[in-house]
Amino acid sequence: MKNKALSAFTYVTQADDTALPVYNFSPGPAMLPKAVMQQVREELLDWHGTGISAMEMGHRSREFMSIAEQSDATLRELLAIPENYKVLFLQGGATSQFAMVPMNLLSGTDTADYIHTGVWSGKAIDEAQRHGTINVAASSAVDNFMTIPARDQWQLNERAVYVYYTSNETIGGVEFQSTPDVGDIPLVCDMTSDFLTQRLDISRYGIIFAGAQKNVGPAGLVIVIIRDDLLGKAAANIPSLYDYAVQAKHESMFNTPATFSWYIAGLVFNWIKQQGGVEAMYRNSIRRSGNLYAAIEASSFYRNPVTPEFRSRMNVPFILADESLNDKFLQEARQHGLVALKGHRVIGGMRASMYNAMPDEGVDALIAFMQDFERLHG
Ligand SMILES: *Cc1c(COP(=O)(O)O)cnc(C)c1O
Repeated sequence: MKNKALSAFTYVTQADDTALPVYNFSPGPAMLPKAVMQQVREELLDWHGTGISAMEMGHRSREFMSIAEQSDATLRELLAIPENYKVLFLQGGATSQFAMVPMNLLSGTDTADYIHTGVWSGKAIDEAQRHGTINVAASSAVDNFMTIPARDQWQLNERAVYVYYTSNETIGGVEFQSTPDVGDIPLVCDMTSDFLTQRLDISRYGIIFAGAQKNVGPAGLVIVIIRDDLLGKAAANIPSLYDYAVQAKHESMFNTPATFSWYIAGLVFNWIKQQGGVEAMYRNSIRRSGNLYAAIEASSFYRNPVTPEFRSRMNVPFILADESLNDKFLQEARQHGLVALKGHRVIGGMRASMYNAMPDEGVDALIAFMQDFERLHG
């Protein structure tokens, strides 16, 4: 008997009830590993024989404390996070950090350097300007944000309290290829859309933050990795909830944390470890995005506008030669179980987002579909 139940992973066509796998290319909230979703389902009503759900536990209960400790330990292991860094599990998404970073690090006449490479760093700059003096030390605006400004062109301010950049611009599909060298100035990185996809030398950063919904878990949660000398620098009048030192002192439990999202993040960390860690995630991302870029390059029907050396491993925008076919492309893709390919309104066209949870089969199916579509309509 065919299982006709709708689930997150099957797509039942109305025509013949055949279950097709669904590949979800959503930029975020994005797909989670199927194995993790199955584990969540299995444990949903009864976490480890307690008779209650991880959603229903007191955050200070022994059970939840073990979840919190485990997730912290696994994340530290995955990224080799040194002892002198705190890991915080906060709320308000990545956007909360656009304000928390300057609120905590800037005071009086302090200034900070920002690198403007697209929509997300632009939003961070706008927010930071409400809290202090901001120097845009480099910008790729003149290149339509299709590249990363060369490091030797950056006009860093020697008095800057920190340098801020966005390692992967999720909307433009532009990614830094390495950690920029800014000397002794603390480096702050919005790593939301390529977090846990490669090895990092954490000691080169002051703060790394990542909203969960791209690569880690449900939306709303944001993970902050902060070097401990950057704690306790906040102005006295900022809300306690937004003070890194207060959150660090209370182990991210100054108020009730996003417990269920935190629990799922822990499961995702375990899953990454089982897959071979961030090195395996890196190899997967290179293979999957490389195959898709190669297919785009080989075609005269699809085009990716980003400078090749800065193309993102996570988010691949592509534009059809005939844009009047956009709706048809999306509709037929959906019929093939390929969903959420519509590009961001700022860029137009299509965008395939392929975070850690995307299986190779999803990208293979997308490439095959794109080639068929080109043959039929190109
Ligand atoms: C999605 C995204 C954000 C915004 O995340 P929210 O959780 O909606 O605040 C910020 N930065 C980057 C790089 C993103 O991809």
